[in-house]
Amino acid sequence: MTKPIICTVALAIPLHKQFDYLLDPRHAPADLSTLIGCRVEVPFGGGYRKQIGVITAIPDESSFAIEKLKGITQLIDKEALLSKQLQQLLHWASIYYQHPFGDVFQQAIPTLLRKGKEASFKTKEFWEVERADIDLTLLSRAKKQLQAITLLQKSALSYEQLKEFGVSRATLNSLHEKKLVKRYDQLPKTEVDWVSTLQEQQEKPTLSTEQALAITSVTQQLDTFKCYLLEGITGSGKTEVYLNILKAVLARGMQALIIVPEIGLTPQTIKRFQARFNVPIYLKHSALNEQQQLETWLHAQQGSAAIVIGTRSAIFSDFKNLGLIILDEEHDASFKQQDSFRYHARDFAIKRASQQNIPILLGSATPAFESLNNAISGRYQHLFLTHRPGNAKPPKNDLINLTGLPLKSGLSPQLIDLMKQHLAKGNQVILFLNRRGYAPVLICHECGWLAKCERCDAFFTYHKSANYLHCHHCMATHPVPQQCHDCGSTNLHSTGVGTEQLEETLKQLLPEYPTIRIDRDNTRKKESFNEYLNDINAGKYKILLGTQMLAKGHHFPDVTLVALVDVDGALFSNDFRASERLGQLFTQVAGRAGRAEKKGQVVLQTFHPEHALLQELVNNGYGDFSRTALKEREMAQLPPFSYQALIRAESLNATQAENFLTICKQTINQIAEVNKYSDRLLVLGPIAASMERRAGKYRFQLLIQSEQRVLITKTLNIALTHFEKLPEGRKVRWSIDVDPVDF
Ligand code: ADP
Ligand code: ZN
Ligand code: ZN
Repeated sequence: MTKPIICTVALAIPLHKQFDYLLDPRHAPADLSTLIGCRVEVPFGGGYRKQIGVITAIPDESSFAIEKLKGITQLIDKEALLSKQLQQLLHWASIYYQHPFGDVFQQAIPTLLRKGKEASFKTKEFWEVERADIDLTLLSRAKKQLQAITLLQKSALSYEQLKEFGVSRATLNSLHEKKLVKRYDQLPKTEVDWVSTLQEQQEKPTLSTEQALAITSVTQQLDTFKCYLLEGITGSGKTEVYLNILKAVLARGMQALIIVPEIGLTPQTIKRFQARFNVPIYLKHSALNEQQQLETWLHAQQGSAAIVIGTRSAIFSDFKNLGLIILDEEHDASFKQQDSFRYHARDFAIKRASQQNIPILLGSATPAFESLNNAISGRYQHLFLTHRPGNAKPPKNDLINLTGLPLKSGLSPQLIDLMKQHLAKGNQVILFLNRRGYAPVLICHECGWLAKCERCDAFFTYHKSANYLHCHHCMATHPVPQQCHDCGSTNLHSTGVGTEQLEETLKQLLPEYPTIRIDRDNTRKKESFNEYLNDINAGKYKILLGTQMLAKGHHFPDVTLVALVDVDGALFSNDFRASERLGQLFTQVAGRAGRAEKKGQVVLQTFHPEHALLQELVNNGYGDFSRTALKEREMAQLPPFSYQALIRAESLNATQAENFLTICKQTINQIAEVNKYSDRLLVLGPIAASMERRAGKYRFQLLIQSEQRVLITKTLNIALTHFEKLPEGRKVRWSIDVDPVDF
């Protein structure tokens, strides 16, 4: 008997450690190196629990005694699940983000593959007409059957497609009984050639000079890696630029990947891609079921998806022949994953384009400072769209000084007047307030007691219609107290304004203009957001009141006034990114107005009209604002002029969390000293997080900063093995966040 083969397997566990298992040589291929990247099922932990892992190496020897190694129970793949290139990138990400490879790998693949399912298509149920000459008058009394037959006369359709057209199983069965249609089962087609049939399905606008320039800049060098930043004001026609570049890529028979912030929030943009090209387009987002996710993934890998449009994690799709990556709204915060594997989809995408030697296009009206700095310094090619096409005029911006004004649920008399003027002309108005609920605080007027979450350093938000108190940080809910918890008084009042209250006030103030509130509280159902959008565009509502959700990419052609009710909190935040976010938010919200022929107006209410950055933003726009703010970052040596990593620790016991980080700090300082770069690596803390207690846990953090990215990576790679052995680390929950954006 030949001796068993040792395989190193990476499992989805929170440890930077891989395990050796034995493979029965009878199951092994002739070339053992082809095992690397194959999934296996192995026993792990106590009992007979099985885990899915991936083979990362075939070592000659194990550091464990061979007799002690367990056997692989199943070799799932016949060849590596992912292309070599993608495997390499995931290894890079594992090292760069300090996250175990086994878990990186699992997060990169569809759920069904994580569970060990085969990476192949299943046959699908299709229906076609039995013969061409069907006498439709026979069905004149069966409307549903008639509709189904009419569809099927054009082409065979899968059951899924028929369902989307509203055809039921019962209808198909009736037609089948009448011998008018028949069913067949087939694998989806994976040989798709769109080059010879590629057509643009719509009339295209005549491109502006700037658009044409942006397009040719990219299309004349599709064969090499280059990162482009398309800085184009809202409504300037960025999507049109994408579509034209896509066409050039598709015409070469190559695939394209488009990453967007949130598919549910950008249905209009998605529809434009689908409407333009007669090629297979697949969406990848969380609303797909597991089977659909797998199919999309397989189509990309086998080359039969021409375009994949997806959210953050779509960046891990494997492609047969990828020719272009587009990252739309590249500044969007959702591109950074905020737990476990804390990667940034933008950075991963750029790395990926570089490795595959293809162009990548980042687009935004409000570029992230990181991207902007790279474009200004010449690392990226900077492309601009500075005008809106046609007659669309940029909006006019104004500040309203709130000092000394009587406010109604946060609205100044000036703003109310303005609203009336715009509404009287038949136009729509957007009010932006980034605070859900009725009021952010409930206070006792006798003794000053505040309704605070007992598990967080935060106040409860009062939700009036649902009649409960809600902590927006730990999700706890409580009935509204009738009496003060301290003095027993019933004199409890809410202070501050949330969207729910503003909605109530607007209904009293302007009852003749229907108001719609758009926030997470009332758009939970998948469909409702889309329905609201349709109703809004049909003019059913005149006042649109909402949070962030309103700011994302929608065109509201009849909106002529946009007001930001209260954003002052961002002016004096201790988070150095707060002003960048305010600039982006202001510009994105403002961008909803005046898209069509109607000139828009944007007003911002503030108690601090003199604030320099605010002045710059309102008077000169995001372009100037961001460049001024970027200079401030440079002077302070903050990102993007330095790099950071954060070690977070949380525990029910504050001392334990802090202690662990103190030891981490010593370890890091030692590593820096031994390697002689202490002067170039800053270690700050440990300090309490800005919300020290959340969901009952005390939270501390240690900040590592350097002007050289590689020093952070190197230090943490060495430090991590120490951290994992620290007994103090077992008592707390800790994690490493490289390039953190949230403090
Ligand atoms: P962005 O993505 O930059 O916000 P869009 O691509 O959505 O902008 O363009 C805004 C509007 O302008 C859309 O209705 C689009 O069809 C239209 N548009 C884009 N380019 C042109 C053009 N060259 N001529 C006329 N209209 C255009
Ligand atoms: Zn009281
Ligand atoms: Zn809480």
